[in-house]
Amino acid sequence: MSAVDYDIGIIGGGPAGSTAASYLTRAGLSVALFEGETFPREHVGESLVPATTPVLREIGALDLVEQAGFPRKFGAAWTAATPPGVPTMGFSGLSHGLGAAEIEFDERDQPGVHQAHTYHVDRGKFDQLLLQHAASNGAKIFENTRIAGVDFDGEHPVIRPVRDKDNGTTVRMVVDASGRGTMLGRQLKLKVPDPVFNQYAVHTWFDGLDRTALSHDKKKADYIFIHFLPLTDTWVWQIPITDTITSVGVVTQKKHFTASKDDLEGFFWECVGSRPELRSALESSERVRPFKAEGDYSYGMKEITGDNWVLIGDAARFVDPIFSSGVSVALNSARIATKDIIAAAEAGDFRKARFNEYERTLRRGVSNWYEFISIYYRLNILFTAFVQDPRYRLDVLKMLQGDVYDDDEPRALEAMRKIVATVENDPDHLWHKHLGSMSAPSAAALF
Ligand SMILES: Cc1cc2nc3c(=O)[nH]c(=O)nc-3n(C[C@H](O)[C@H](O)[C@H](O)COP(=O)(O)OP(=O)(O)OC[C@H]3O[C@@H](n4cnc5c(N)ncnc54)[C@H](O)[C@@H]3O)c2cc1C
Repeated sequence: MSAVDYDIGIIGGGPAGSTAASYLTRAGLSVALFEGETFPREHVGESLVPATTPVLREIGALDLVEQAGFPRKFGAAWTAATPPGVPTMGFSGLSHGLGAAEIEFDERDQPGVHQAHTYHVDRGKFDQLLLQHAASNGAKIFENTRIAGVDFDGEHPVIRPVRDKDNGTTVRMVVDASGRGTMLGRQLKLKVPDPVFNQYAVHTWFDGLDRTALSHDKKKADYIFIHFLPLTDTWVWQIPITDTITSVGVVTQKKHFTASKDDLEGFFWECVGSRPELRSALESSERVRPFKAEGDYSYGMKEITGDNWVLIGDAARFVDPIFSSGVSVALNSARIATKDIIAAAEAGDFRKARFNEYERTLRRGVSNWYEFISIYYRLNILFTAFVQDPRYRLDVLKMLQGDVYDDDEPRALEAMRKIVATVENDPDHLWHKHLGSMSAPSAAALF
């Protein structure tokens, strides 16, 4: 067998790549990680869910994250765009209005989680912390090294940088953690655009925003807020970044932005203007970052594992960010994939069959998220109803905490699916007119 430079080559140093690097080096494997940017770099995706906590602890980074002083996140709240008055159909919680709800994470005991909070993070700092942690665990980090492709023709994969394609790095296997760059997915033509979600986001940071402008409970100031706008499938995130800085983003269907004549800034203000109290709170604060857009970001992959490669994090799949699932999927996909990779290294066999457990578990977890998100967009009254209903609250909370990888399908999903079908099939149903335009549950199986 010919020599390799490293056991594992990782492409991308975001949360997925650096977490995988920490797991693998801690298991004694040699790891090279290639990151196209020089850290710190800005990144969207700032609010975590508690399923990240056990992973951060396992790789030895939880104390570092706690000490970094990121705002603690104890819960989440959704504010309504319309006044109360939706027919309750036997669900008690709808009196707060369409789309209004809130949860606190420590209402449900979560396996492996021994704290009531997770974090909101400045991704520049958080990602750098995790990358430096991977280096301190022994990974060799190459920043400012964009990868052009991987050559799978020889005995071992060769990772080729854009700057010097002839000078590749030979590894036993490749982990693609290149995020929405989807380096291997594009090279191997695996990427499938999402048939339903074509979302678009415009976001920035504000200093001095009154975070309770749309909620009267001052205790909730450090929650993530999702504010529903009275525009089809459109919502706003409000995420604390420091004591005074707040990240705010509008998420909408791409076609709404395309149809609007506005630029990013005009579109942002036009959207938030549909909740005048929100616009007025934002206008009373100071914008401290340029507006930035993210588009075309939902997709799946025909395969997420192959001979000598796996895809993790956003490189494997991206679903809409409404429930802050992305970083949790990044960390947990790294956790689950590296178990198979470590076993493969022990066996000296990196063929696709070695990664079956990872593929099965990740697909199951992400399709739970996908269906939950789809139902939310299709009939968001139902989310409100289920969150407030004692029969389903803990089951919904389990998903919101990010616990989606075990064997059981969440009970609430099955019950929600049935109700959506009833409402869809009965034009006289009192909720029928509240159906959203994106019809996705049936598409969930495509991925
Ligand atoms: C609008 C929006 C809002 C979101 N909000 C949230 C949220 O509130 N909470 C949440 O958890 N998630 C959120 N997400 C999702 C979150 O941003 C991602 O899921 C998360 O960043 C995935 O981590 P990752 O490590 O897989 O990829 P990334 O964090 O994107 O890291 C990938 C890294 O790979 C590098 N790279 C790419 N191509 C190459 C290459 N060819 N060679 C070398 N390096 C390369 C990139 O520079 C990057 O540093 C949101 C996403 C969007 C679009």
